[in-house]
Amino acid sequence: MPQRPSFDLAVVGAGVVGLGCALAAARRGKRVVVIDRDTQANGASVRNFGFITVTGQERGEMWRRAMRTRAIWDEVAAEAGIAILHRGLMLAARRPQSVAVLEAFLRTEMGAGCRLLGAAEVRRENPPLAAPGLLAALWSPHELRVESREAIPALAGWLEARHGVSFLRETAVLSVETGAVVTTRGAIAAEAIAVCPGDDLVGLFADRIAAHAVTRCKLQMLRLADPGFRLGAGVMSDLGLARYAGYAALPECEPLRARLRAEQGAHLEHGVHLIVVQSADGGLVVGDSHHYAPTPDPFSHDAVDRLILEEFEAVFGLTAPPIVERWTGTYASAPDRAVVIDAPAPGVRLVMVTTGAGASTGFALGEDVVAELFDGAAA
Ligand SMILES: Cc1cc2nc3c(=O)[nH]c(=O)nc-3n(C[C@H](O)[C@H](O)[C@H](O)COP(=O)(O)OP(=O)(O)OC[C@H]3O[C@@H](n4cnc5c(N)ncnc54)[C@H](O)[C@@H]3O)c2cc1C
Repeated sequence: MPQRPSFDLAVVGAGVVGLGCALAAARRGKRVVVIDRDTQANGASVRNFGFITVTGQERGEMWRRAMRTRAIWDEVAAEAGIAILHRGLMLAARRPQSVAVLEAFLRTEMGAGCRLLGAAEVRRENPPLAAPGLLAALWSPHELRVESREAIPALAGWLEARHGVSFLRETAVLSVETGAVVTTRGAIAAEAIAVCPGDDLVGLFADRIAAHAVTRCKLQMLRLADPGFRLGAGVMSDLGLARYAGYAALPECEPLRARLRAEQGAHLEHGVHLIVVQSADGGLVVGDSHHYAPTPDPFSHDAVDRLILEEFEAVFGLTAPPIVERWTGTYASAPDRAVVIDAPAPGVRLVMVTTGAGASTGFALGEDVVAELFDGAAA
């Protein structure tokens, strides 16, 4: 039988999704324990851009969750002493087909607060982006950027200090049933349990995960030396329009896709698109690529890095600064859904973001899951 202490909520996984569940429950005054097999956060949640993206998220639920998550990041960052390194997004368009997608996007409800800037205006307001070939740029005020490798530990520390959340590190969860988790350090009783395993597809509830055809996506990432300019906002390019569902699902995207297939086929083949964000020391985090497999190879391939840098150089019109760091990351990916919320047992939820948007949606997802567990008839 499980031993005391008992909790209102036990969370498996101390990534951003698990911390989002912990935060939502703690804000309701619940007693929460977070259990993770690693000593410190080491998965996708600290390998990402720390780019809290609203504009471009899939229309509907994902966009709503991103707006809500962004608001929570703003509140939590202020309280937890997490620096917001920049705000907003500039999506630089070099093709008329891209401008057409942006114009169509602005006509939707998702365009609220966003603007299309002409090349002259971009040159005035954001000179680093004024490369030859720039036609226009979408400005969105919604995005935030944090340094995830610092922000996630700071968030966990603040949850512990401010909200009394307990953390059990270096502890693997072996099984979960209603009211109890069995760990490598013994059993823990909890009224509700949120399993947020990131891209561990073969551990807890492997059969439920397999039923959603979840696989893993590997991304290559680069850190470049300080280029000598300050960005002020995250940067994306035409390639992002063909990847991010909020734009890519618009019918106006088809002509752009056809042109990109003709001009940047290798980029599309390797799932390369451009995100550039800046760190406090001026260095740039630049990526990324997308390769899918249950066990992707762990290596960074130079040919893929070169595709990323080629797009960087086209957007900024300069030779890329030296690479100072390379890493890969993986996240869970499903063919037909951005999120899996499954109920394998009463009072238990399996929670996975199955697209590259956990930092952008995890806090709102946590609120939804906690509401289901503590308010819902199906809890
Ligand atoms: C390179 C890269 C760039 C990205 N960029 C962005 C971005 O800019 N913006 C954005 O919104 N999203 C981005 N993403 C996606 C985002 O990082 C992920 O969606 C998110 O981090 C997933 O969070 P998670 O908590 O589900 O998983 P993880 O961060 O993987 O955490 C899962 C945790 O669960 C633990 N765990 C699993 N099973 C067990 C068990 N049985 N017992 C104990 N512990 C267990 C693991 O140890 C791990 O710590 C990016 C992802 C990558 C890889």
